[in-house]
Amino acid sequence: MVVKKEGSFDEKLLNLLLENSLEGVLLVDRRGVVSQINQAFVKMTGLQQDVIESKSIVRILKTGNVHEFFDPIREDLWQCGFWQGEVQQTLVNDRIIKGYLKVSAVLPQNGPVRYYLCQLAEHGQIDLSYGGGQAISAKDRLTNLATLPVFTDRLLQAVANAHRHEQSVGVMILDIDRFHQINDSLGTELGDKLLCLIADRLTSCLRDSDSVARVGADEFGMLLTDIDEGPGAVRNSGFVAQKVYEALAEPVELGGKIIEVTAAVGITLFPQDGRNPEELLNNAKTALAHARRGSRNNYQFFSHKMADVARRRFALESSLREAVDSGQLHLFYQPQLDIKSGRIVGAEALLRWIHPEQGIISPMEFIPVAEETGLILPIGDWVIRTACRQIAIWRDMNLPGVRVGVNLSAVQFKRQDIEKVVRESLDETGIDPGNLDLEITESAIMDDVQKAVLILNHIGDMGVKLSIDDFGTGYSSLSQLRHFPFKTLKIDRSFVNSIASDEGDKAIVNAIIAMAHSLNQTVIVEGVETVEQLEIMQNLSCNEMQGFLFSAPVEVDKFTEMLKNGVELKHVVDKAANTNNNGKV
Ligand code: C2E
Ligand code: MG
Ligand code: MG
Repeated sequence: MVVKKEGSFDEKLLNLLLENSLEGVLLVDRRGVVSQINQAFVKMTGLQQDVIESKSIVRILKTGNVHEFFDPIREDLWQCGFWQGEVQQTLVNDRIIKGYLKVSAVLPQNGPVRYYLCQLAEHGQIDLSYGGGQAISAKDRLTNLATLPVFTDRLLQAVANAHRHEQSVGVMILDIDRFHQINDSLGTELGDKLLCLIADRLTSCLRDSDSVARVGADEFGMLLTDIDEGPGAVRNSGFVAQKVYEALAEPVELGGKIIEVTAAVGITLFPQDGRNPEELLNNAKTALAHARRGSRNNYQFFSHKMADVARRRFALESSLREAVDSGQLHLFYQPQLDIKSGRIVGAEALLRWIHPEQGIISPMEFIPVAEETGLILPIGDWVIRTACRQIAIWRDMNLPGVRVGVNLSAVQFKRQDIEKVVRESLDETGIDPGNLDLEITESAIMDDVQKAVLILNHIGDMGVKLSIDDFGTGYSSLSQLRHFPFKTLKIDRSFVNSIASDEGDKAIVNAIIAMAHSLNQTVIVEGVETVEQLEIMQNLSCNEMQGFLFSAPVEVDKFTEMLKNGVELKHVVDKAANTNNNGKV
């Protein structure tokens, strides 16, 4: 134990620690007078104890560069209680010292700072071990910014300082959108150039007392000190985030191409979001993950609700692994009907997780977790194979052939050999390929259009149908969509919600249908809940409908019953009309 009795150190043990330290240690009081040094310091500098102890620290340097050296250190100590950096100085004994110096205020339990601790590591000896324990450097070689360990250290000091002065500290983590794609298309040399440029722009946005670090391949950390407390901290750091976006907004010219840089930012504040660097950084990452899920150029403040969501996600992740292995995933089927004939012509296969304790968990909740963890690959594989087997079962029962829509995730599309999975499923079941319909959202294919066109053309050539899902919600370029072999376009449910009340949305839907028909595509409208919505879609010449008006997604047996009984749209519409009439009487 270092502590002998409350408030006083065991002096012997403290001296033993100092003498065994590989770093040169020097303790200076607040007036700048050297109070104590250790043997390592004597060895490194060649300055004897009696020559420097009780003397002003400035005396250890050869005169001439004293202000230049000490002023920035003093400034940082004043601002945030900490300074660190490379040093190369000629000492009073003409010895040149090269190394890495850290100076930190020794924080008393109460009262003002009385001492500063200086730790000097000669080159070749630095080991600010972090995680893996390997030697790391204080500066990022590419951008010249601080590295993560230094950033964490600075954050620690800033937190300690803010704690004493009842101030706030803001931590921002910024992640460049689609950096890997930029890197792939421009080459790493220009990718590196872009990172340096971003580093400069970020540095120029912040005050001298703040700091920027490169904390991941395409992630930057920003530490905001000296910001207002409480709600003011949110305003201050939100303002900085805006400044950051403005700085990044200016297009960059690289390799003859104009590149638009967008980024997501997660923000945490001390003290409300975390009491130490680890908590603050973790929560900033949680906020960043939320920001990434939003639109581009989005910043998010951390909230404890996010932490709850993150915890639930973590719990979901481990039980999802189990669910995959123990058969808790099921496919439900939602009928799709031809609007004119009113007959069932297809179904969309929708995943349901039937959890032994929690009951049905929505795909909206677990698909994002499956995508983040890569579990979507075995799940997606299972969905395609199961849907194909089900088509074969209905065929063998001599039920009218139905087309089954299967949703593909963007991750699956990028990381799985979809062609192979589809081919194997078709071969195994011998079904008519036209009965399988793969649903893909716009965003899944727009990231890498060329690759997507290639894969989808191969799948289309097998006779499998392809649909564009949730149309109208992405950022697709209509001219590019032309190149894809889509047979069907599914209008997103959000349009249907407002179609009866919003003439603007009605006009958009009308235009989408006209465009799809000119490309010979079938149009399915999703989310039809009322007879009024159905009638509007009928009048707009939409081809097929899917929605709660007819049926929610149902278990396989129930859907099989519907097929056997030949249930039609008019049965349901008549029933709805009767209910309404009855209601009115
Ligand atoms: P989606 O592909 O757009 O599926 C349509 C969603 O709209 C389904 O939600 C369906 O239940 C819901 N829906 C249909 N009609 C109505 C209606 O009239 N009113 C309302 N309010 N909702 C309606 P669900 O089943 O919760 O699925 C949500 C999303 O999860 C799907 O959206 C799809 O993106 C994803 N998903 C579902 N199954 C799979 C799967 O096997 N693989 C992948 N990658 N994603 C899936
Ligand atoms: Mg779908
Ligand atoms: Mg959809």
